[in-house]
Amino acid sequence: MKPNAGLSSASSNAPDIAAEQNVSAAQGIPAARAVSAAPTIAVAPAERLRRLPEQFFARLVRKANERISEGHDVINLGQGNPDRPTPQHIVRALQEAAENPLYHRYPPFSGYGFLKEAVARRYKEDFGVDLDPETEVAILFGGKTGLVEISQCLLDPGDVCLVPDPGYPDYWSGIALAGARMVFMPLRKENRFLPDYGELAAADVRRAKLMFINYPNNPTAVSAPAAFYEETVRFAAKHGIAVASDFAYGAIGFDGRKPVSFLQTDGAKEVGVEFYTLSKTYNMAGWRVGFALGNKEIVRLINLIQDHYYCSLFGAIQAAAAAALTGPQDCVRELVALYERRRNVLFAALNKIGWEAEPSEGSFFAWLPVPKGHTSASLAELLLAEANVVVAPGNGFGRHGEGYVRLGLLASEERLAEAVERIGKLGLF
Ligand code: PMP
Repeated sequence: MKPNAGLSSASSNAPDIAAEQNVSAAQGIPAARAVSAAPTIAVAPAERLRRLPEQFFARLVRKANERISEGHDVINLGQGNPDRPTPQHIVRALQEAAENPLYHRYPPFSGYGFLKEAVARRYKEDFGVDLDPETEVAILFGGKTGLVEISQCLLDPGDVCLVPDPGYPDYWSGIALAGARMVFMPLRKENRFLPDYGELAAADVRRAKLMFINYPNNPTAVSAPAAFYEETVRFAAKHGIAVASDFAYGAIGFDGRKPVSFLQTDGAKEVGVEFYTLSKTYNMAGWRVGFALGNKEIVRLINLIQDHYYCSLFGAIQAAAAAALTGPQDCVRELVALYERRRNVLFAALNKIGWEAEPSEGSFFAWLPVPKGHTSASLAELLLAEANVVVAPGNGFGRHGEGYVRLGLLASEERLAEAVERIGKLGLF
């Protein structure tokens, strides 16, 4: 299997083998002879790994790092990594919980009941949604894990999964691992970046078992109205398609518009789950805490697959996550206000240089059309080379992302303004 021949273990494992042999040598086995005689195998990845999509943004990170190591003052707006620290009271909750010997032991397989109760209470308070902590909540190692797992839980080879285009690339990974087929749902500006279920081919809809939706949306930064979720529940129920609503930015809506949860819709729990994460709401991206919420059977299947992979999160992290969900929520309001101020600064600056775009409604991104004569990739390359500004080329999110770049509101107001000022000097608009 040629393409992955580079993965052959022959040379890369040699130091480990030698180290092991040194131990053996101390026990009387001659190290040098053992090393030279060590058998090697060509490690070939399984078919399912060869199906995995390329990690598009790894290349972007590499290029940006090259510029930084060359000594350039790079403003990185290309990634989705929250730049603010986790609120202090949550960090303190972890510190205290880390002292508790109970948490040094294995946690219960599907996680602690108190964390499931905490997220159920938050959903009740924020969205008026009732969730049974026992049966309608699964704890995840971050939302990403669940978004990959659900495809493995529900899809067989040959099944179709409906995926937003542009969309968050991690959906693709789980579908590829399951050997299922992606059918893209174009998100067009004319339709406010919502999918038009009416344009999907009947044969694809018939074979579809799962669909992903994501509002507030990465990368287009729009929110979805309640009517969209109602339409989605009707569509899913009619065609027997499970819905995965990715609500990673559920806390981040601007101009007083609170994002709507899929689970607020009548009948939502009958057709799907919502994925929620603490990564954005509480700046806890490094902590890896997420949830699948809603449909009992899907929650059961996610817990089942996780029973085989993991033994839930470190108990102290679960305790701190519960503290985040049940503690004071001013930190969330302050964070949303901060992102809104940054959005305002960014769009005021864009306006000044003549870059016309729709202001973000939610999430912490801005989705900007590229100027005439450019592609997503050519503009991203130019901005890095000439302005030392990293943006994410829209085509990395799917074919319908072509013609756009995504900027993150994940730098200070000053840096955002400076980034746009640098771009302005290139005279593109
Ligand atoms: N969904 C979307 C749309 C995201 O942008 C992200 C994070 N980049 C996630 C899910 C996953 O978040 P996490 O794994 O940190 O919970």
